[in-house]
Amino acid sequence: MPELQIVRTVADLRAVVAQYRRSGAGIGLVPTMGALHDGHLTLVRSAKLDNARVIATIFVNPKQFGPTEDLARYPRDEAADAAMLKELGTDLLFAPDLEEMYPEGFATSVSVGALTQSLEGLSRPGFFTGVATVVTKLLLQALPDRAYFGEKDFQQLQVVRRMVRDLNLPVGIVAVPTIREADGLAMSSRNRYLSPAQRKMAGALPQIMHETVAELRNGQIASPIIAKAKGRLHQAGFDRVDYLELCDETSLQPIPVARAPSRLLVAAYVGGTRLIDNWPVV
Ligand code: AMP
Repeated sequence: MPELQIVRTVADLRAVVAQYRRSGAGIGLVPTMGALHDGHLTLVRSAKLDNARVIATIFVNPKQFGPTEDLARYPRDEAADAAMLKELGTDLLFAPDLEEMYPEGFATSVSVGALTQSLEGLSRPGFFTGVATVVTKLLLQALPDRAYFGEKDFQQLQVVRRMVRDLNLPVGIVAVPTIREADGLAMSSRNRYLSPAQRKMAGALPQIMHETVAELRNGQIASPIIAKAKGRLHQAGFDRVDYLELCDETSLQPIPVARAPSRLLVAAYVGGTRLIDNWPVV
């Protein structure tokens, strides 16, 4: 297995990318916050299929955490992450520190309009501006041919697509379906926060989502179906449901009845851990 090269500065990243370009290689970029699991690794595998060179990035981006969120305790294990990336044949890991990404005096942000005003955007003010700013920087730093994002974070995927179109960023955005545990729970770095009892309980989320999607597909009015599903989530032990909404897949605006293309999106808490998920409806 070839060595995984690790670089920590934009200058070093660009030097390696220039070598790749000289050799004519297509380049795929996989941005992550580390604490890698099979969801992330599937993005890397997809990138390997499409590109001769694959760059993964690990940066826990403080700009996408709110003041009461889990930045300080977000799981970090670069050695384990690097070992997994190496195993898959990733060519390069870009793991900048805070100073490299946001040097003293950093003052620019990228904010995307309407798409960020619903769902996660309401529960987590500033989140998407943090994401859009760091993703823009990573895309401009690496200038890949393609960048890979998970459908697990569906609104984020749509925001990134919008931003890339709006700013004419010369990169293709590739969406990768959500990778799930055996009981259907979407893989997430934050699942590490769950106690064994909470983890067991969390399996109710995909099950309720699955059944709710089946009901919504019948073309009935969504609101009573969604109210019932919220009740079931509470009964199953979820402490708070930030949102459970049927939305148009492109605009992410709520719709009263399922129509193509639509998605059911959820954010709910098990204890202090916030889980998100989404399923296509039609
Ligand atoms: P994160 O490290 O949580 O910022 O995620 C980095 C990338 O991995 C994002 O594009 C996520 O959407 C994607 N991702 C995270 N979990 C999953 C999953 N279970 N299935 C597919 N992609 C995922």
